[in-house]
Amino acid sequence: MLKNLDSIDVRGKKVLVRCDFNVPLKDGKITDDTRITEALPTIRELLSKEAAVILISHLGRPGGEVDSRFSLAPVAERLGQVLDTKVDFCGEAAGEMAKRMAAALQPGSVLVLENLRFYPGEKNNDEEFSRALASFADIFVQDAFGTVHRQHASMTGVPGLLESAAGRLLEKEIKYLSMALDPQKPLVVCLGGAKIETKLGLIENMLDRADSILIGGAMAYTLLKETGAEIGNSLYDENEKTTAENILKKVKESNCELILPVDHIVADRIENPEKIEQTSDINIPSSLAGVDIGRKTAKIFEDKILGAKTVVLNGPMGVFEQKKFSEGSKTVFSAVAKATQKGAVTILGGGDTVSAVNTFKFGKKDFSHVSTGGGASLKFLEGGQLPGIEALKERA
Ligand code: AMP
Repeated sequence: MLKNLDSIDVRGKKVLVRCDFNVPLKDGKITDDTRITEALPTIRELLSKEAAVILISHLGRPGGEVDSRFSLAPVAERLGQVLDTKVDFCGEAAGEMAKRMAAALQPGSVLVLENLRFYPGEKNNDEEFSRALASFADIFVQDAFGTVHRQHASMTGVPGLLESAAGRLLEKEIKYLSMALDPQKPLVVCLGGAKIETKLGLIENMLDRADSILIGGAMAYTLLKETGAEIGNSLYDENEKTTAENILKKVKESNCELILPVDHIVADRIENPEKIEQTSDINIPSSLAGVDIGRKTAKIFEDKILGAKTVVLNGPMGVFEQKKFSEGSKTVFSAVAKATQKGAVTILGGGDTVSAVNTFKFGKKDFSHVSTGGGASLKFLEGGQLPGIEALKERA
């Protein structure tokens, strides 16, 4: 069991909270503040308990150097707006100024320190950098689920140095993702997207647990080709041929059914297509590429999802960014939302999955849980150990 906010006394203490404020920015403006709003329950609880709250995070990939494009200043500003309270910002994460501002911080106040990845010590898991961060506070709270698969200073270094606990977001992520590993049956896992290699571990781990694995998106074609179907110009990953063979073999040895598309929406090209067709069967003409699952497939996937008690959805069924190619994904996401209404536990993960949720204008209530972590949620569902969580366990 991990320690959480119920089991630590934070009143009047300085609490260092590692958040995941890695928000998308365009021209210095935040385009999606989900990761900020997801951090609010922990921050609000700590403030209500009269803690002095020092927030740390990374943003983007500045490569261990100061790069103003990746400053957390806009995050601090937005946080002040959504919290409706004054939020101080310090232009460094370690150093004299950070030390002074942290020391002066009063109970019930918030301070955001600058991007951790402006310092090479964060990614190198440098002990001195961890010590500098830990020196600001009495207690450490880990709430950055999106980064717990990394062996960085703020993931594994700092928890070794301070009394540490999991924040409310991390707790929620672990609670729901654990339900996929120990599911109410039937469990249906629906996967899409382009990069098959990132989802292999998940497929393998789920073969023992799931009743059905449904695969759409570009990754389906590498598997379909292995079954002997014609895939035309569809995306195909030659490097994953052996993997595809292995997956098909393992499915045969398991009690889990693998359902691949039986028809497709195909186009002559993704950008500015002149020809878009629905295929009559599994085969794709040689001059065309699969861009979405076909109508029959969407119906099969929908029925399976509606019959599930637990659903895991990761990745879109096609090039959902373009409206013409988004119907299959929309049908599948809508089926998952209906399954939620019927009482199923529905768990969504992956960066593109979250942007599809927003594109299709689904709300928070449509799914039991939309994970804030792409790589971290995949690693969790693979059954792998996450260093940021392990470090908290060691501490407990
Ligand atoms: P991933 O990062 O592996 O989850 O892949 C997500 C991306 O896969 C999205 O940007 C989709 O547009 C893309 N994608 C899904 N299906 C297809 C397809 N049939 N052909 C090309 N790209 C696809």
